[in-house]
Amino acid sequence: MLCCPSCGAQEIFVETGGYTGMIYRCKRCGYRGPLVVEVDEDTSGHGEKERMSDR
Ligand SMILES: [Zn+2]
Repeated sequence: MLCCPSCGAQEIFVETGGYTGMIYRCKRCGYRGPLVVEVDEDTSGHGEKERMSDR
């Protein structure tokens, strides 16, 4: 599950993807950029991971 780093919405979709990386867009706040927060809500315990794809 991908979350917006700006507003936390899960309404993130990929706008473009290429050699330099993926660009994501948030439907809710209009955020656009290479960074998203990936959340595993299916796991037990601490199910939250932050994964910055551009660092
Ligand atoms: Zn957002």
